[in-house]
Amino acid sequence: MTRVAVIGAGPSGLSQLRAFQTEAQKGAKIPEIVCYEKQDDWGGLWNYTWRTGLDEYGEPVHCSMYRNLWSNGPKEVLEFADYTFEEHFGKPIASYPTRPVMLDYVTGRAKKADVRKWIRFRTPVRRVTYDADTGMFSVTVHDLFNDNEYTEKFDHVVVAIGHFSTPNAPHFDGIETFNGRVLHSHDLRDVHEFKDKDVLVVGASYSGEEIASQCWKYGCKSVTISFHKEPLGSYKWPDNIKEAALLKKVEKNTCTLEDGSTVDVDAIILCTGYKHHFPFMAKELKLRTANRFAPASLYKGVVFADNPKLFYLGMQDQSYTFTMFDVQAWYVRDVIMGRIRVPDRKARMTDVEDRVAREDASVKNLSDEICYQADYIKELIAETDYNFDVDATKEVFFQWVKHKDEKFLGFRDNCYKSAMTGNMSPLPHTPWKDNFDDSVESYLTE
Ligand code: FAD
Ligand code: NAP
Repeated sequence: MTRVAVIGAGPSGLSQLRAFQTEAQKGAKIPEIVCYEKQDDWGGLWNYTWRTGLDEYGEPVHCSMYRNLWSNGPKEVLEFADYTFEEHFGKPIASYPTRPVMLDYVTGRAKKADVRKWIRFRTPVRRVTYDADTGMFSVTVHDLFNDNEYTEKFDHVVVAIGHFSTPNAPHFDGIETFNGRVLHSHDLRDVHEFKDKDVLVVGASYSGEEIASQCWKYGCKSVTISFHKEPLGSYKWPDNIKEAALLKKVEKNTCTLEDGSTVDVDAIILCTGYKHHFPFMAKELKLRTANRFAPASLYKGVVFADNPKLFYLGMQDQSYTFTMFDVQAWYVRDVIMGRIRVPDRKARMTDVEDRVAREDASVKNLSDEICYQADYIKELIAETDYNFDVDATKEVFFQWVKHKDEKFLGFRDNCYKSAMTGNMSPLPHTPWKDNFDDSVESYLTE
C-alpha cells in the first residue's frame, strides 16, 4: 500500500488529513497516512504555550503567538468551504475571532473528521532522505514520550511545518549594551509587561503593526515603529504611536535611528519576520525560498520541482490561509492518488520561473497580493473538487483593507458576509479596544 508521511499537524497538515479523509468517506481507497507532530496537541501556531525558547523536552518552541492575539483578517477570508464557522459554532459569530476561537474552529473540523488517529504527537521529524533506487523516502523521527528514535519508509512526504516559527533576528550595533528587554516577536507571550513603558518595535509588517496596537491597548506609554524599506503608510495612529526610520545603533537605553534622531526606550521588540527552516531535510530535498507569493522551487506552489513525490504546503507568504491550505492539500491528494499528472522537470521549472516572474511584474501592493493569491487558488480549484466563490472572499479582503486604512485601531469592529453561507456576521458585542476577554465563551456571547 502507498504510504504518505505528513509532517506537522497545524492548519495545513490538518488540511492534508482532511483531504484524504473526504475521499475515504466516499469509499475511495486512500494511502496509509502517518502524521508526525512535534507538539503534544494539534493546531500548529494557534496551539498557545506560555513557554519560550526550549520546551520541556529541549525542543525549540514552535508557537509564535501571544496570549491576547486576535485574527488580523476577517474569518470570512479563511473559512473552510466544507465546514463553516456557523456549522462549528451553531450560529453566526463576529468576524475577527480571538486566538482560542480560531483554534477551536480549525481543530473542530479535524475532530469531526476523526483524523486524530493518524497523528503521532510529540514526535519531531529528525531526518528525511530519498533513495532514488527504491523511489522511497526514509523518515527518521524521535518519539519523545518513549525517548525512542526510529525510521520508516514512505512513497510520498508532505512537509507542513509552516514558516513563521524560526525568527529572523538581525543584529544592530550596540544592541548588546541595551539595558532593557530585547526580544523577537516569536517569543512575545503577553504585552502586560509593557504597560507604562516606551517600546521600540523594529519591522513594519503584520507583527509590527499588531504588536504596536496590542501594546497600545494594554497601556504602554509609547511605541516607535522603526521601518526597514517602507513605513506602514497611511494608518492614523494615536499620539503615542509613531513611525520612524530604521534602527541604526543602540547605546544603553538610547536608540539612534538612520535619520540621526534618537529615542529612549525600555524594550525593543524585533518584528523582523521569520526564516523558512527545514533542518531535517536532506540537502537535495530542502526548500530554499524567501517569504514571497511565488516560492522558489515549487511547481504549482506546492510540488517540489526537483522531486515530485515531495510536497510543501503553505510555504508562500499568506493573504489567504486555511482555504489556500485546503486547495493545496486537495491538489496534493489528487497528485498522490494519480488523478493529476505532474509534468517533467523542465516543465516544472518553467512553471516556477513563470510564477516568480508574474509576481515580480504584478505584485506591488497589498491589493495586488490578494489578487495574485486569489488567482493561484482559482488555478488549483480548477483541477480538484474543492470549490468556493473566490471572488466573494476577494471582495471581503478589499473591505478589510479599506477598514484598516479608515481606523486601524478599530478595524476589528466591522463585520462581513460569509461567501460560504451568504449570511452576514453579527457585529462584535464590544469594540476590540475595550474587550480584554479572549475566551471562546465571551466571544460567543451576544
Ligand atoms: P503552523 O501553524 O506553523 O503549524 C506547523 C506544525 O508543524 C506545528 O504544529 C509544529 O509543531 C509542527 N512541526 C514543526 N516542526 C516539526 C517537525 N520537525 N516534526 C514534526 N512536526 C513539526 N493566519 C491567519 O489566517 N489569521 C491570523 O490572524 C494569523 N495570525 C498569525 C499570527 C502570528 C504571530 C503568526 C506567526 C502567524 C499568523 N497567521 C495567521 C498565519 C499562520 O501561518 C497560519 O494561520 C497557520 O498557522 C499556518 O499553518 P501551518 O500548518 O502551515 O503552520
Ligand atoms: P513579515 O510579514 O515577513 O515581515 C517582516 C518584517 O521585518 C518586514 O517589515 C521587513 O521589512 C522587516 N525586516 C526584515 N529584515 C529586517 C531588518 N534587517 N531590519 C529591519 N526590519 C527588517 O513577518 P511578520 O510581520 O512577523 O508576519 C508574519 C505572519 O504573522 C503574517 O502572516 C502575519 O499575518 C502574522 N501575524 C498576525 C498577527 C495577528 O494579530 N493575527 C500578529 C502578528 C503576525 P522589509 O520588508 O522592509 O525588509
